[in-house]
Amino acid sequence: MIEGKILTIGEILVEIMATTLGRGFLELQPLIGPFPSGAPAIFIDQVGKLGHPAAIVSAVGDDDFGVLNLERLKRDGVDISAVAIHPGAATGSAFVRYRPDGGRDFVFNMRDSAAGRIVATPEARAVLAEAGHLHVMGSGLPVPAVFAMIRDAIPAIKARGGTVSFDPNIRVEMLRDPAGKAAFQTVLAATDIFLPSGEELSLFSGASDEESAIAALLETGVNEIVLKRGAAGASHFDRNGATHMPGFVVEEIDPTGAGDSFGATFLVARRLGKSIPDALRYANAAGARTVTVKGPMEGTSSFADLDSFIAGAIIKGTA
Ligand code: ATP
Ligand code: MG
Repeated sequence: MIEGKILTIGEILVEIMATTLGRGFLELQPLIGPFPSGAPAIFIDQVGKLGHPAAIVSAVGDDDFGVLNLERLKRDGVDISAVAIHPGAATGSAFVRYRPDGGRDFVFNMRDSAAGRIVATPEARAVLAEAGHLHVMGSGLPVPAVFAMIRDAIPAIKARGGTVSFDPNIRVEMLRDPAGKAAFQTVLAATDIFLPSGEELSLFSGASDEESAIAALLETGVNEIVLKRGAAGASHFDRNGATHMPGFVVEEIDPTGAGDSFGATFLVARRLGKSIPDALRYANAAGARTVTVKGPMEGTSSFADLDSFIAGAIIKGTA
C-alpha cells in the first residue's frame, strides 16, 4: 500500500424518489429530491467524510443538479477538480420508485447525460497521478470512455505500488453484453480487494456455492474478498481464512447507497491500519446508518458518527 488519494471514476447523478410504494412512473405521483447520487459519488463522499484524501473523475451539466452535487462533495472533503462541467449536456438523473416487495423501478438518464460524456481531461490526468488507490464501480464500466480511463489507470497506479478495489455493482444485463463482460474481467484480473454483494460473487467465478466461488477468486489473484450480506452484515476472505461480522439492527428506510458507503469505510479503515474485524465493524456501521435515511448520500458518516452509532447499537443475533 502507498499513501495518496483514493480515486474513483464514474457517474455523478441526482436521484428523485417517489414517496409512495408502487410500480414505476405511469401515473401522477408525489416525488422528493433532488438528492446527490451516483454510486461512485456516494462512495467518494463517504471516503471524504472519513477524512481520507479523496478525488473523483466525472462530469456534470452546467445546471442546478450539477451545483448541488459539487457543493456536497466539496463540503465533505472530496477533490472535485477533475469533475468537468459539460457545456451542453445536463447532469445525469435517476428516478426511483420502490415496490411493495422491496424491488425498485428506475428511469435512468445516464448515457445521454453529462455522466455519459466523461473524458480524460488534463485535470483527470493530474488527479490520477496523485492517487494511491483506485476504486472501480461496475456501474460506470458500460461508458466506453470511463472503461478506457480505468484500463489505463490500473497499470499506472500499480506501477507506483498502489492498489485497486472493485465493487461490481452489477445489473445482470451488463454481463450479457460481450464488451461489458470483457470489461468486468479486465478489471477483476487487476483487483486487490473485491467487494461483491449477494449473487455477484458467483456471477464472476461461475461456481454455484460460496466456498468454491471464494476459492476460485483467490486462485485468480484477488487478495481479499469482502462479501456484503445486507442486514446480515459482511464477511472477509483471504488466504488466511474467513472473518464474519454480523450487521447492526436498524430500521431500513432506503437501502440505496449502503454498499457504496460500506466499501468506502472498509477501505479507509484498512488504509488507516485497522484490523479486519474493526474495519468490517466500521463498514457495517456505515452501511447500517445509510439505510436509515431517505437519499443515497444523506447517511454517509464521519468516524465520530460511526463511533457513537456503534456505542449505542445492537448487533444482529445478540438482542
Ligand atoms: P447497494 O444496494 O448499495 O448496491 P449492496 O448490495 O452492494 O448495496 P448490501 O449488502 O445491501 O450491499 O449492503 C452493504 C452493507 O450495508 C451490508 O453489508 C451491511 O453492513 C449494511 N446494511 C445493508 N442493509 C442493512 C440493513 N437492513 N440493516 C443493517 N445493515 C445493513
Ligand atoms: Mg443491496
